[in-house]
Amino acid sequence: MDDPSRENEELKKRLMELTAEAAHNETIMRRTQARELTLLRADSLAQLLRTTVDGLRESYSLDAVSVALLDPQHEIRHLLLAGGERPEEFKQIFFVDSLIGLAPQLAVLHKPWLGPFVGADHHLLFPGALNLKSTALVPLPRKDRATGALCFGSSDPTRFTRHHGTDFLAHMGAVAAVCIENAVNRARLLRAGITDFLTGWHNRRYLQQRLKEELARAQRRGGSIACLMIDIDRFKGINDGYGHLAGDNALQEVAHRVEAQIRSMDTAARFGGDELAILLPEASAVEAATLAERIRDVIATVPFSLTEQIERNLTVSVGVAAVSPGRHETDLKAVADRLLADADAALYRAKAMGRNRVQVGAG
Ligand code: GH3
Ligand code: MG
Repeated sequence: MDDPSRENEELKKRLMELTAEAAHNETIMRRTQARELTLLRADSLAQLLRTTVDGLRESYSLDAVSVALLDPQHEIRHLLLAGGERPEEFKQIFFVDSLIGLAPQLAVLHKPWLGPFVGADHHLLFPGALNLKSTALVPLPRKDRATGALCFGSSDPTRFTRHHGTDFLAHMGAVAAVCIENAVNRARLLRAGITDFLTGWHNRRYLQQRLKEELARAQRRGGSIACLMIDIDRFKGINDGYGHLAGDNALQEVAHRVEAQIRSMDTAARFGGDELAILLPEASAVEAATLAERIRDVIATVPFSLTEQIERNLTVSVGVAAVSPGRHETDLKAVADRLLADADAALYRAKAMGRNRVQVGAG
């Protein structure tokens, strides 16, 4: 072959390589855009964390993916718990007080770090993963610092090396960081809207929402659902006699004692001032009345510490109601309202009959 034709062959080859590379880049880019959209669309913090780990591993054929998140106040974990998720079940997410303990490179991670997998340095990042040969640690940036890191592991030693460009990974980290921050903020807002500050319990709005869901479930299963309305007797007297703070302490302690009596499937809410409501799925009126009596008893028999010096006895009155929504019931909102109204009417009767007692049914 003479020179021009060899040159021509080489050019052709180079062109084909470039075309292949461009096509490859385009595939990666499309995949990346699709992945970013999934992240942006995740509608809860838990879903986002799952999508981040599982989605990235699948999209980029990685052998191991984990995410380290700074969570020194345990806030993210509390938000997950509040959403009914157990943080320890997110095996690939590390909630940490500081990033340093996980891997030395995470101590000062301003841009992605790519290099060989070194057991001594990186084993904490990928528990259980075998045969990893290279790793990429990508900061989740917030302002000028990292709030965490995406950690990728590959069994291919050439997958992540210091010769690779890092712009693409840095961009991915930035998108993931914004998505996570967004989801944390949304979870915070949601929580602020449904939680009572003093007791840490849910508020009335949440209870009403939950009641609708529980009624629908009871209807499907042909089960019943009960409700307790608990109101502190002569609570105003505590405020008037010992001050608002003493009243707050008493209210918290009542909530605490009630909480110790109920099951994890029950929903406890602060319904209003000194009125607490409990929803008991799959409980009959008789079972609910037994629980109500137990609650009345644990309040009445042990005195409350209102301040360091002052102890007083308190009592509560409890109204109980239950309902089994029929299969053909279409207006569950009306059923919900009636259940709450019946429990309230029973509470009113308990008050009228002298307080410190339990009454069942609308009467
Ligand atoms: P009874 O229910 O037995 O009829 O008498 P009561 O004195 O408890 O009357 P009521 O339930 O009407 O009054 C509730 C009081 O609870 C009035 C209100 O000032 C007080 N309260 C409501 N929310 C709070 C709170 O968050 N902290 C404190 N300290 N007091 C509260
Ligand atoms: Mg009261």
